[in-house]
Amino acid sequence: MTLITGGQFIDPQSGTDDFLDIALDGARIARIGKLDPQAGGYGRVIDARGMTVVPGLIDVHVHFRDPGLTYKEDSASGAAAAARGGFTSVVCMANTKPPVDNPETLAEVLAKAAKAPIRVYTVAAVSRGMEGKELTDMAALRKLGALGFSDDGIPIRNPAFLQKALLAVKALDVPISLHEEEPSLIGVPGIHEGAVSAAMGIHGASAVSESAMVARDCMLALATGARVHIQHVSCAESTELIRLAKRLLDARLGARITAEVTPQHFSLTEDAVRTHGTLAKLNPPLRTEGDRQALIAALKDGTIDMIATDHAPHNIEEKEKPFAEAPGGLIGLETALALGITNLVLPGHLTLPALIGKMTAAPAQLYGLDAGYLAEGGIADITILDDRETWTVGGFVSKSSNSPFAGSTLTGKVKYTICGGKIVYQDATDFY
Ligand SMILES: [Zn+2]
Repeated sequence: MTLITGGQFIDPQSGTDDFLDIALDGARIARIGKLDPQAGGYGRVIDARGMTVVPGLIDVHVHFRDPGLTYKEDSASGAAAAARGGFTSVVCMANTKPPVDNPETLAEVLAKAAKAPIRVYTVAAVSRGMEGKELTDMAALRKLGALGFSDDGIPIRNPAFLQKALLAVKALDVPISLHEEEPSLIGVPGIHEGAVSAAMGIHGASAVSESAMVARDCMLALATGARVHIQHVSCAESTELIRLAKRLLDARLGARITAEVTPQHFSLTEDAVRTHGTLAKLNPPLRTEGDRQALIAALKDGTIDMIATDHAPHNIEEKEKPFAEAPGGLIGLETALALGITNLVLPGHLTLPALIGKMTAAPAQLYGLDAGYLAEGGIADITILDDRETWTVGGFVSKSSNSPFAGSTLTGKVKYTICGGKIVYQDATDFY
C-alpha cells in the first residue's frame, strides 16, 4: 500500500477541494480521508505537503507519429512526455503513416500502446487514406478498440460525405473529432491572415477558413444528432457559433457538441510568429489578442469544454525550412499544465479546480473513460503538482523539441505522475 499524505486534494468531478490523504492498494484507490501514516503499514509514503493532488490528466489530442514517422516521436517517447506533463491517458490521432484507417494498423498501434506506462488510446480515421471520399469500416475499427473517429490534420471538405460520416458515428454512439479549416480560403497555412502575415508578405489562413467550417458542421451536428467534437478552436467567431449551437442542441437533444482549445491558442497570438518563426507555425494558426480573449471567455462559460494539447512533434531540420514549407505544430504535453496555471489560473480566469476539470473530467466524459476522477475503489491515476513552483521550460523527454515556450519561465510543476498505482514520473529536482 502507498499513502499520499498532506496534500491539497482536488477532484473536480465530485467538487471536492480539501486536505485529504489517499491510500492506494495496487492499481486502485483504497481509501480517501484523514489517514494516519503510522497506522496503515504503508510500504511507501509520499509526502505531498505543499502540493496539490488531482486526477491524472487526460489529453484527447496527441500525435505520437507511430507508425511511420518515429524519428519525430514514437509510442514510448510520447508516453514518457505525457507522463512528465502529468498525463495518465492520451488519445492519439490517426494521421500516422500509414494512417489508422484499417484493422492491421489499428492493431499495431494498440499493441504498442499496451506497452506504454500510461494509458494510450487512439481514434481511427473517418475516411480511407484520409482522402475524404470513402468511409473506413467504422464498426470493425470501433470493435477493435478505436475510441472514436477523426481525419485530424486534414479537414473534411465535402458536406455530403461528412453527413454520411456523422450518421455512421451516431449509429456507433462515439464522437467524431473535426479539424476545421477550409483549404480554399487559405494561402500559406499555419499563420493568421492578419497584421503579421501582411508584414511578412504572406497570404495566411483567415479566421473565416475556420469559422465557416465550424458553422457548417454545427448545423450538420444539429441536423444529424451525431456527437461532434470541434478540435483546437482558434478564433472568436467559432466560439460564438459553438455557443449558439450548444444552445440550440440543449433545447432539442441535449448537448452533442463539445469543443477543445490548446494551451498555445490561449497563451500566444500571431505576434509569436515574429519572435519564434516556424516554431509558432501551427494549424489552425495563433490569432489576435481579441481571439485569445474570446477563447478564454469560452473556457470560462463552458462553451469550450476541455483543454487538449495537439502535441505535434517535428524535428529541427523540418522546422528550419522556409516558413511556407515547414510543417505546422508544436509539442505540448510537457508544458500544458504549466501554461494553464500561468495563463489561466494566475490571472484569475479559471480557478485551479476548474482548470483541472477541463483536463480530467471533461475529456474523460467525451470518450466515457473510467478516469478523470478520484474516488475510493476508482483507478489510481493521480497527478501531484506544485502550483507555485516556477521552472524554465526545456529538457524535453519528447523526441522533438519544437516548442516556442522553450526557455520561458512558467509556474506550476508536475512532481509525480501515478498511473494504475505505479509512479511513472517523478520530478528529478526532488532527488537531493
Ligand atoms: Zn488538427
